[in-house]
Amino acid sequence: MTMPAAPPADSFATRREEPVFGRLAIIGIGLIGSSIAHAAKAFNLAGEIVLADRDEAVRQRARELGLGHRIAESAAEAARDADHIILCVPVGACGTVAAEIASALKPGAILSDVGSVKNAVVEAVTPHLPQGVHFVPAHPVAGTENSGPDAGFSSLFLDRWCILTPPEGADENAVTRTRQLWEGMGAIVEVMTPQHHDLVLGITSHLPHLIAYTIVGTAEDLAAVTQSEVIKFSAGGFRDFTRIAASDPTMWRDVFLHNKDAVLEMLGRFSEDLSLLTRAIRYGDGETLHRHFTRTRAIRRGIVALGQEKPETEKLRKS
Ligand code: NAP
Repeated sequence: MTMPAAPPADSFATRREEPVFGRLAIIGIGLIGSSIAHAAKAFNLAGEIVLADRDEAVRQRARELGLGHRIAESAAEAARDADHIILCVPVGACGTVAAEIASALKPGAILSDVGSVKNAVVEAVTPHLPQGVHFVPAHPVAGTENSGPDAGFSSLFLDRWCILTPPEGADENAVTRTRQLWEGMGAIVEVMTPQHHDLVLGITSHLPHLIAYTIVGTAEDLAAVTQSEVIKFSAGGFRDFTRIAASDPTMWRDVFLHNKDAVLEMLGRFSEDLSLLTRAIRYGDGETLHRHFTRTRAIRRGIVALGQEKPETEKLRKS
């Protein structure tokens, strides 16, 4: 397998002299929204950071945490006069929120999002875009299993990929400034089409989550048989699945509902490969198993070589 070039070894962010944007609006104060707020403040990426969330308890918590410079009462209020607006809500809510803020967007503003699925978000948001507003969708490939305003931290995006999927003919300046924002947070930016994004993330992220949700669910169903030994002996591989399967249920429901075709395609291939391994086990075909495991070990080593696996402590030290 050919591995892509490794990102620069030390691409972590430093505080900018001049902000990228005058006013940055963040709609949805969860893990990603609060992390952007922390990072944008820490690295001086916007003159003013305004946040909004539909839930008053979340807005209150954001005030207590000192997120951004101001908490607005509504998404439209946050978006008014903003230069860059990021939708940090579940994929299925992006269209609704875009409709809510459309009349508040000023000409020349850049609307973006962080959705883990791109094609469905582009289709849902585009009809609401006012004339003169640029749309540059983004997906930071970074996260944890935690949600909510307390979950965010400024170093979440350090040395992580952020994929931009601007529409054909998108305003170059809008794409450049969106890139600068993500690079300012320490991310490594790549540009691709929404369709390609959904296919790639279908195999690298969505399918693994589906498998983790399935395995942990199956183990839970077997709890009576195993007498809770599932938890006791979890270090045998199961523990890593439980971390992934603890991810936000709303977010992941939306991912599967909105990347249906790519996930079903990947699931079909996965089922075929699983059948091959099942057959090898059934017929004692050790050679097939060994060949397969040798190939997959090389992929793991490639990921480590690309710097996409590192201890959390190392990331936090850089914040
Ligand atoms: P999160 O922690 O659950 O936060 C989402 C926030 O959006 C919550 O405060 C939620 O409020 C709010 N919200 C939901 N519907 C809304 C609406 N219609 N109007 C206004 N606010 C609304 O989720 P997250 O992990 O930050 O994910 C946000 C986005 O980032 C998703 O699109 C996800 O695909 C993407 N993403 C996530 C990760 C990850 O690992 N978590 C990584 C990359 C990208 P309520 O609590 O009231 O519902």
